[in-house]
Amino acid sequence: MEKSKKTIDIDLFEKKDVPSNAYDKMNSSIKYNPIFHRITYLTNVIIALIVYLAKLTNISKNPRLNALQVFIIITVFFVIDILLYRVDYFMSKKIFLIFRFFEIVIFEVVTAIIPNLMIIMVSLCILITIFTIEFLLYDTDFVKDDIFTRRIIIIVIYIISAVVGIKFRTETEMICFLLTQIAMLFAAYTIVDMIIAINQKNESKIFKLSLEVSDIQDANEKLIEYQEKIESTNEQINYQRIEMQRTNRELEQVNKETEAQTKVMSFMASTFDISKCIDVLADSIAETKLTKLCAIYTEPDEYISKRGNFVIKTNYTSVERRLRKDIEQIYSDFKSDIRNSKIYTETELLRFKFIGDANINAIAILPLSEGKRMYGIMIVASDKDGFFDKGLNYYEASVAELNIAVKNAKLYLMMQDMAHKDGLTGINNRMYFMQLFESAVKKTKRKKGSLSVALYDIDKFKSVNDTYGHLAGDAVIKTVAAIGDRYASENGGFVGRYGGEEFLIVLPDKSENEALPILEAMHEEIKNTTVKHEQDNINVNVCIGLTSYPNICEDANMLINRADMAMYYGKEHGRGRLVVDDRELIKE
Ligand code: GH3
Ligand code: MG
Ligand code: MG
Repeated sequence: MEKSKKTIDIDLFEKKDVPSNAYDKMNSSIKYNPIFHRITYLTNVIIALIVYLAKLTNISKNPRLNALQVFIIITVFFVIDILLYRVDYFMSKKIFLIFRFFEIVIFEVVTAIIPNLMIIMVSLCILITIFTIEFLLYDTDFVKDDIFTRRIIIIVIYIISAVVGIKFRTETEMICFLLTQIAMLFAAYTIVDMIIAINQKNESKIFKLSLEVSDIQDANEKLIEYQEKIESTNEQINYQRIEMQRTNRELEQVNKETEAQTKVMSFMASTFDISKCIDVLADSIAETKLTKLCAIYTEPDEYISKRGNFVIKTNYTSVERRLRKDIEQIYSDFKSDIRNSKIYTETELLRFKFIGDANINAIAILPLSEGKRMYGIMIVASDKDGFFDKGLNYYEASVAELNIAVKNAKLYLMMQDMAHKDGLTGINNRMYFMQLFESAVKKTKRKKGSLSVALYDIDKFKSVNDTYGHLAGDAVIKTVAAIGDRYASENGGFVGRYGGEEFLIVLPDKSENEALPILEAMHEEIKNTTVKHEQDNINVNVCIGLTSYPNICEDANMLINRADMAMYYGKEHGRGRLVVDDRELIKE
């Protein structure tokens, strides 16, 4: 509103059409003046008519110059006057002055020659006076010196006329004629002086006015300047406002992204479940960045997932279906060719068959890597062409978080493994075995099921050490442990190194009858195994004691003891035997 008011004010100033050189124009002299011309023009006509009428009287019949001749002279000058005026010759100062000069001279001569006919005399005198005034002032710029020269010229003309006139007049007429000439001169000069005085007054007024005008002009210019400044400031403010709104929107988005990333980070820090981490990350990206697709693939891995693992977040079911089939191939192509983050647009998208007819116009693939080893990819897709124009920083940061989480989880799992596994054989150590055993017992009791436990010990192991050396002994221990481990895991059980060359096998959900053939097969394999160490082929045998809950041993806490006892029974009765626990046979 304020702005529009200001505009109106300025317009008002602008409408006052004040020329910049107003003072000069107002101060300029009388150029050829049409009003002046009209006066002489009218006087000419009236006087011509008077003279024409006068010719009808007796007095006009003058031998020197009759009224008709005077009429003709006046009319001729009148016609020339009109013609010169019409063709703009009077715009030239010289032509005008010369013409007026001759007019005055001729009319003065006429006045001098014609008899003292009052009416004609008066008429001619008026005409001459007007011409004289015009002659004195025309284009003088009211410069007194200029006017003075012209005054002298006029006086000379009048004196000559007076001298000529005296010749043709009686004494009384002569005085009358001279007085008329003086009166004319006096009248013309007085009028000229009056005009000069009026002009001077006007000039000072004009000067004041022009000062005011220039002040107004200055003020006007300043106002226009202020208005321009206000307009440009307004423009800047508007621009800044738009910029601020844009920055605010960007900040909001950054906040949203940071918040989402923080949530994902804290989730990742709280768990070592990599599959869950991947799922949460893909969800978060799809939600925060409003992507059309976010998929994460990780290759088969001992710690992350035994098989290739992927998560696909998209609303296009057909894309999901196709990508499930293609993702492994996309990963292997990417792993062998590219290995760095890459954005695909336009024709590059044709290589991805999974897009089909879905509205996907930009795809970014980022590698997941742990150190230099690449273990998976993240695929992000959008329907907008320039979606990744601002770069992949956000996605790269998210991937970096995932990489750290994977690294931490692996480290944790490796440490856990180290704490659980026996250093020589890689099977569960005694402590961890006992944990597994206790939870297996609990589960069996809860399910009211069976649980078989076997303990086996290598026969005459001391002699292996003594004969082939300690390292050979180690190789034997490893081989025997590995066979036991395989039989256990193939049958849903687990093993543990119970002592130096003593091992325990637990087979949950197996009664003694179900466990027996498994252990027999295992025993058979151990007996038939030859451990190769350097040049030596070492044969091994073991003694196995088997017991089972609840059929043989009702007290689950006694299971290991009973298995041990059965094993010792075997040792005592020839070694290389598989002994099934029997209360009668094996006395506590
Ligand atoms: P038996 O048939 O009665 O079991 O006779 P054995 O010689 O096996 O007797 P025992 O079980 O008492 O001997 C175990 C030996 O195993 C004692 C020890 O020196 C050896 N031993 C224990 N742990 C290791 C190991 O980690 N490596 C090697 N090389 N030997 C071990
Ligand atoms: Mg032994
Ligand atoms: Mg032993």
